[in-house]
Amino acid sequence: MAVKLALFGDPVMHSLSPRIHTAFAKQFALNIEYQRILTPNDELAKTLAIFKRAEGFGGNITVPIKKEAFALCDTHTSYARHAGAVNTFWWENDKLKGDNTDGRGFLNYIKKHLGEDMANKNILLLGAGGAASALASMLSEQPIRSLNIVNRNVAHAEALVDMSQKFQACGYDEINKQALSTKFDWVINATSCSLQNKVPKLSEKWIENTTAIDLSYCGGEPTVFMTWARKNNAVNIDDGLGMLVEQAALSFKQWFDKEPDTLPVLLNLRERE
Ligand code: NDP
Repeated sequence: MAVKLALFGDPVMHSLSPRIHTAFAKQFALNIEYQRILTPNDELAKTLAIFKRAEGFGGNITVPIKKEAFALCDTHTSYARHAGAVNTFWWENDKLKGDNTDGRGFLNYIKKHLGEDMANKNILLLGAGGAASALASMLSEQPIRSLNIVNRNVAHAEALVDMSQKFQACGYDEINKQALSTKFDWVINATSCSLQNKVPKLSEKWIENTTAIDLSYCGGEPTVFMTWARKNNAVNIDDGLGMLVEQAALSFKQWFDKEPDTLPVLLNLRERE
């Protein structure tokens, strides 16, 4: 019988997770069935109960309910606890367990696919939701020089600053008013703006000559953020596909204790785009 997995969130129909996990499972001749289950805010508890009754084994959580998933889990890995958000879950002895693989997925993507490291980087992180929290938590343990977290709701960004003395937080108006005293090496878009076809209200002066990475991806097309970054002279521009495959591999390892080969899966997704 197939092991039942699913992705919960809203939206989910664009997600490549079923394709990625099916490709991983093939590498180990495992029989899995991976569904997408549309789950708006405040409906996760009910939806998970139905999935469990149908012999669901575990799954992934995406926007906007990673914090809601965190609150529902009985136990958390240290990664989920630090991020305050869950993107991977499974049941063990009837207890719901939650992990967060986003931060480590991003780190593996940077190292394996971009061949970069974190040393001495000045980073601008846009967003303070589940993905941004996981990235901030991971970055608090890396030898970066600084992290500026900018968010529409400034209180959400400020809540992440305690993770490290190298972190600062503000809103878009404040950073846009500042003079160009810091040069950012990377600008990471961890907002869900691209899903709404919007660009965060960041002044274009901050993007010139940076590596601009959008955690979103858009079925082969550049996201609106990538198009904006190219127009405003970012030098390296990438989407979230590499991170998606890496964070999925870490979820897969949690469920099956097996480490899939990510490169052929990423290449295959890019070819099919
Ligand atoms: P959340 O819903 O937890 O957070 C959304 C963030 O986006 C918040 O900081 C929110 O700000 C901000 N935001 C939303 N709309 C706007 C807007 N119109 N203007 C400015 N800011 C806005 O989502 P996640 O953190 O889970 O995901 C964020 C993005 O990252 C999504 O696009 C998701 O697909 C992508 N992602 C990609 C992954 C990958 O592997 N490639 C993994 C995880 C996420 P506020 O606090 O003010 O509401």
